[in-house]
This record gives sequence, C-alpha cells and structure tokens, in this order.
Amino acid sequence: MGEQKAYSFFDDVCKVVDHAASHMDIHPGLLDQIKQCNSIYKFNFPLRNGDGTYQVIEGYRVQHSTHKLPVKGGIRYSSFVNEDEVKGLAALMTYKCALVNIPYGGAKGGVTIDPTKYTVDQLEKITRRYTSELIKKKFIGPAIDVPAPDYGTGSREMAWIVDTFEAFNPEVINAKGCVTGKPLSQHGIDGRTEATGMGVFIGIREAVSVKEDMDALGLTVGLSGKKIIVQGLGNVGYYSAKFLQEAGAKIIGIAEYNGGIWNEQGIDIEDIKAYQIQNKGFEGYKKGEFIADSKTLLTYPCDILIPAALENQVTSENANEIQARIIGEAANGPVTQDANNILLEKGVMIIPDMYLNAGGVTVSYFEWLKNLSRVSFGKLEKRYDMKKYEALLENIEKATGDSFSDEQKDLIVRGASERDLVNSGLEETMVTAYHHMNGVKKEKGIKDLRTAGFIVALERIAISYMDLGIFP
Ligand code: GLU
Repeated sequence: MGEQKAYSFFDDVCKVVDHAASHMDIHPGLLDQIKQCNSIYKFNFPLRNGDGTYQVIEGYRVQHSTHKLPVKGGIRYSSFVNEDEVKGLAALMTYKCALVNIPYGGAKGGVTIDPTKYTVDQLEKITRRYTSELIKKKFIGPAIDVPAPDYGTGSREMAWIVDTFEAFNPEVINAKGCVTGKPLSQHGIDGRTEATGMGVFIGIREAVSVKEDMDALGLTVGLSGKKIIVQGLGNVGYYSAKFLQEAGAKIIGIAEYNGGIWNEQGIDIEDIKAYQIQNKGFEGYKKGEFIADSKTLLTYPCDILIPAALENQVTSENANEIQARIIGEAANGPVTQDANNILLEKGVMIIPDMYLNAGGVTVSYFEWLKNLSRVSFGKLEKRYDMKKYEALLENIEKATGDSFSDEQKDLIVRGASERDLVNSGLEETMVTAYHHMNGVKKEKGIKDLRTAGFIVALERIAISYMDLGIFP
C-alpha cells in the first residue's frame, strides 16, 4: 500500500472546482489560470520579548485571483496557519465573492501563532510589524488588497492595521479603506461584527423555506423547533446561534475546543456565552451535560449541524456517524471532500461555506464603499418619543389598510440607520444568491449545492478573465 498523502486544503478546493467545471464548457487553460494562486508572500520577522529573548514569527499573505481588484480576505491568527491553508482560504474567497457578486478577487493572510498565548502588547507589535511587511511589498492598500478579521482576529487588530497603514501612507486619501472590520470609532460599519452570523442565519432560513427540499430530507418547513448543534462559540458561531434561536430554532449542543455542552431541551445562548467568557469554557455549567470529548458532539442527533470553527472537522473518519440532515458550513472548509461525498450518499444537504459565510465579506464591501466615499450613515440612536407618533401611524394604517410591525413603525419614524442599510443589503445578497445557487442545482440536475455554487462562481470569473484578455 502506498503512503497516504497528507491532507491538502488547497487541493480539496481545486478538486471541487474541477468537479464543477466538468458540468461546464470552460477552456482547460483558463481553468488552470483561475485555480492557481497569483502571488504567495511568506515572511518571517522577530518579536522581542520583555525578558530579552526573541521569537521568530511566520506570516503569510496569499492573493489568489486579481481578476477583480482589490483582492479581499481575512487575516487569521492560529497555530495551524501554514502555506497550504492560506492558499486554500484565499482561493475560497475568490469563489465566495463571485457567488455573491461582490466585485473583489480573493486573498487571505495568516500568522502562525496561538493568540491566546500572547499579551495584548505583543499582539499589537505582531500586528503592526505584519502590516508593515505587507506595506513594504505593496500587499495592502484600498485599491490593492484589503484584509479583514478572521479566526483569531477582530476589530482591535483591524484598528492597529489601519493606524499602521496610515502612518506609512499619509498621502492616500482613502486610506481607511485599506482594511475592513474596523471598530466604529475608526470608520467601521454598524453590523459588521454580527454580519457573518447574520448571513449564516439568513442562508439557513432560506434553505429550510423550500418545501420540496425539506420534503426530500423528511424535515418540516421553517426554523421553528429545528434542533441545532453548533461547533465553535466564537464570533461566527455565537451570532449564528443567537439569530437562529431568536427565530425559534433550538440549540441543543455546542462544541468548543475545550469541551462541549449538550441539552436536548435547548441551551440559552446568551446565558452560556456569559458563562464561557467568565470561566473560559463550559466545564461546571449546570444547565446541560458537559461533554469532554467535544468532537463527538458533531455526531449527536440533530436536524442541523453548524461547524463554525476551523476546516477539516468532518472527515472520512466521522462522516458516517453524522446524524444531522443539514450541515451549514459557517466555517471555511469544515467538511473535507471525502466526507462531503459520503454525506451526499447519505442524502445530507450541505449548505456550502462559499455561500453560507459570505455575509462577512458582503458587509466588508459596504464598509469599504463607505470609506471610499468618506461618508457616515445615520446612527441607531432613539432621539424621539414613539408615543407622539402612534396616533399618526394608526391613521396611516386605517387609510391604507396596511398594518405595521413595531420594527416597521420605528423605521418609518426615525428613517433608515446605517444598521438598517447594512442588514437590508445583506439580506438581499444572501437571499438572491441562495435561490440562484439552488436554481442552478435543480436546472442542471446536480446532487449538491456546493457544485452548483462553484458553477455560478466559475461562470462569472471565467467571463471576467476572458474580457480582461492576457497581458502582454
Ligand atoms: N474572513 C472572512 C471570510 O472568510 C471575511 C473576509 C472579508 O471580509 O474580507 O469570509
């Protein structure tokens, strides 16, 4: 027997692209050009510790496709970061942006550190030095390459990035658009923090709204009462679970790297999140059973499984034991290609990462546009007394025969805020892309949404490459 080849995330992404291309009429040379990464920048830099010792830190930025500029994608801080992973994630960004029709090429960056092992001061030094390395090689800029948060980073790191970029580029008028996911005080956008989770919620809501698809899975239509297990209660997992719970779904299991919680009656997301923050984990939480080997939770009975942590979680090792009827890939690449094929055979519906977690980059796009045009939208403050307007609204209801929800009344009185604009743009993007992808799946008689999603993306990218021509 030959030696088993090490798992490659980038190869897995390429395999899906090849499979999608087999349903299309696309020139093999063009396909090769689309699949490869345009530039891979790997670098090392030193970090001086307080005690006089030094560490060498490894950083990456990969630009997968420059068919649309700038390229876009997050920066990940994790001890698993390596070249193959960053390449795979950068490639996914290209297809993700094309599927939801956001005009960016794909990119991704990473630093091979476990951020929980560093002080805030050290993280700031690492982030600023990482940024300066990107600046030196022109791997960052509002028209070139625009990073964002990813696993292990957030708005704090994005603020350090924009500050470093501006320090080196005082003449760039739109410098704020060099990175997205910034704090509101640094020209971020209201709703970006929740955006990926909100997108996951909208995507799953759309999937379970299609009666014939739910009939095929033996599930009822709608989110109400759906039993859900989530892996990862970080930014994406937390907001996905929160919005799904608010819409009537029941979160019955949560798996974290240091243990999970199981309660068939449902777990209150706000309550457990508060416990997790205070206790750095779920151990000792009384309102559920603690599961030390949390990976086993993925195979517990539920309707929907949402891996919202890292890639390579559902593999050929555990795919056969998965009991969920739907897998919502909130993380990037949580299901390997081998596992994907096993699950499809079992009739499981997989809502693919390239679609389901696209809410983040969608709202990043709104933030970037806001930065380029240097505008600030209205804030979500209540500066009015709703009571004063109630009689007026009642008259409108009587005159038109319409009846407004409290939310709509609020909106009519105060006008749209930045958050309203963001949410309606996100909703429109996620809803349109889901039904487009599902339509292509049905039209072409394809088994899975992932292949359909890649077909939609590849079509758009191929047209863009052909229109561009080849230089020189
Ligand atoms: N890191 C996120 C992703 O994987 C967001 C990227 C962005 O906003 O540019 O989609």
